This record gives sequence, structure tokens and C-alpha cells, in this order.
Amino acid sequence: MNMKLVFATNNPHKLQEIQQLLGNSFELLSLNDIHCDEEIPENQETIEGNATEKSFYIFHKYGFNCFADDTGLEIDALNGEPGVYSARYAGEEKISENNIQLVLQKLAKINNRKARFKTVISLVIDGRETQFEGIVTGLILEEKRGTTGFGYDPIFKPDESQLSFAEMTMEEKGKISHRGRAVQKLVEYLSQFAIE
Ligand code: IMP
Repeated sequence: MNMKLVFATNNPHKLQEIQQLLGNSFELLSLNDIHCDEEIPENQETIEGNATEKSFYIFHKYGFNCFADDTGLEIDALNGEPGVYSARYAGEEKISENNIQLVLQKLAKINNRKARFKTVISLVIDGRETQFEGIVTGLILEEKRGTTGFGYDPIFKPDESQLSFAEMTMEEKGKISHRGRAVQKLVEYLSQFAIE
């Protein structure tokens, strides 16, 4: 028997990628699949808090076991900004190009370019939460490099590579990325529930 698990996303790519890693013991459902077409609240001031808020919202309102992720870019010289505000750093329109330009502008005269991406996944099974964290450390580049990916990818270079995230293929990025690492931990944890 399959265990049904909602992933609080409507991004088909994210869903497919994780379904493949989980195998047949789990049936991943998207928000569309459970007829949730409302905006899920994300009102907390931490990445952990937002992930928790989203997963419990689905669990309580729709009654499904569920997981949700939340991600932020934390820049040392900016005291951890943009952090939980990464998507809307330059405004509520959530325009990546504007966010990138704001970061480059704020770091213009700053030598310390250290930063990290952090993803937190909150998993709720039968009302009990477990969190998984994925971190990748790196540097903010002086200017954009590459065209793949999204968000801050063109200005982030992970320590493990000479390439920016936007110069990597999705597979290359997934192996070392914050989200990839958090997902690996989730998959490992869920394997204990897998039915042979
Ligand atoms: P979310 O929690 O996955 O929606 O991520 C919040 C924001 O962080 C996004 O809107 C992006 O600006 C940024 N972000 C998240 N993941 C990545 C990534 O893998 N590369 C670049 N930016 C990212």
C-alpha cells in the first residue's frame, strides 16, 4: 500500500524530482491534487517558522501528511539578510533581477562576500513534525554569471565549484545545493516508512 504525502508546492519539476527519489512506496500529491488553490500563509520571521507554518496549515486544514520547504540566502556582511525575505528583498513584486541588483549594490564596497543558502523542510506525519536542513556555503560574485536556474543563482558561487549556480546543469546543482541536501535527508528519513 502506498503512503500518500502532500508536497506543499505546485512546481511540477520539484514534485517529479522528489517522487523519483522516493520510489513507489509513496504517492506524492501536489496542492492542485488536493484542490488547494489558496495562498498558503508564510507569516513567520524565520525560514524554519515558515516551513512549519505551511506544513501544519495543510495538515490541519486538509488532513494529509505533508511536507513544505522554505529557503533563504544569508549573507554574512549583511547580518544574514535577505534570509527569510529572499523572494521579496527588493519589493513585493518578487522580481529576481531587482533582488540581485540590490544585493550587488549593498555589497559594492564590501570585501567579505561569504554567504550561504539554507533550505528547511518541515515534515508532518500524524501531527508530529520533523525538520531537515540543507546548507551550501559560498561567495556572492561581483557580477552575474550564467543563465540557468532562478533567483540568486547567477551571483552565487558554491565553495565546491568554480562555477556559479547559474552556470551549472540542474543535476550538478542538485547534488550540492541547499535544497538537494535537505531533500536527501528527507528521503533517507522517509525510507523507514517504505513498505517492502
Ligand atoms: P522558496 O522558499 O523556495 O520559495 O525560496 C525563496 C526565495 O529564495 C526564492 O524566491 C529565491 O529568490 C531564493 N532562492 C531559493 N532557492 C534558490 C536557489 O536554488 N537559487 C537561487 N535562489 C534561490
